Amino acid sequence: MTTTITPLIAGNWKMNGSRASLEELQQLAGLLTTGEAPKAMVVICPPATILHAVASQGSTSGILAGGQDCHASASGAYTGDISAGMLADAGAQFVIVGHSERRAAHGETDQIVRAKAEAAIGAGLKPIICVGETGAERDSGKAEAVVAALLAGSVPDAAELHEVIVAYEPVWAIGTGRTPTNDEIAQMHNRIRAILVERFGDKGASTRILYGGSMKPQNAREILNIENVNGGLVGGASLLARDFYTIISAV
Ligand code: PEP
Repeated sequence: MTTTITPLIAGNWKMNGSRASLEELQQLAGLLTTGEAPKAMVVICPPATILHAVASQGSTSGILAGGQDCHASASGAYTGDISAGMLADAGAQFVIVGHSERRAAHGETDQIVRAKAEAAIGAGLKPIICVGETGAERDSGKAEAVVAALLAGSVPDAAELHEVIVAYEPVWAIGTGRTPTNDEIAQMHNRIRAILVERFGDKGASTRILYGGSMKPQNAREILNIENVNGGLVGGASLLARDFYTIISAV
């Protein structure tokens, strides 16, 4: 079966951005609506404090909004946490789960990530489930095995019926300016595709697999041209409208 997948470029603003950043969003909207129509879906995942504003402002220019994390429960005594339903209520359509920064700094296990992805699906959101190996794991030849285990543990069975997105983000490439070679990216994305097809059949064949980790205007075109790379999850380079637009235009 040949599947056409519309690429998706998602910006992860992490803990950056305030109401003043809506100016940058406005600039991005201007670029997206004056130039050639983008060939990718565009998503911004801002801090929760401005999620509603980003969702409202973005809607006029086709920019979609996403959360950066959600709690697995719908509500309750979880001070400081935000449920998937709350993100949806604020206008989100996506949510990143299992980002390596959360796995490392908040002790999120595969089991927790899977529960969050299930909660996201339950709230009508599309989870962007992050997986990736550390530098030491790659150096010891374990990258593919590690990613396969992360996928098995983090992607819920519900992915067979609902839309989920997988983001391959080598931990050592995030925020470092270093990226795997094109061959290494191709090899990992092909492996992820094979795993998804084996587990979910046609649904696995049409699941988006994003690449994330130091994607920049300078390298976006060649990375986005690699087989089974269906878009990008972009951190630092999504903070400036001009850079993010250049990446979107590279699709
Ligand atoms: C990320 O944090 O998801 C990411 C890919 O960051 P950067 O693009 O800055 O490496």
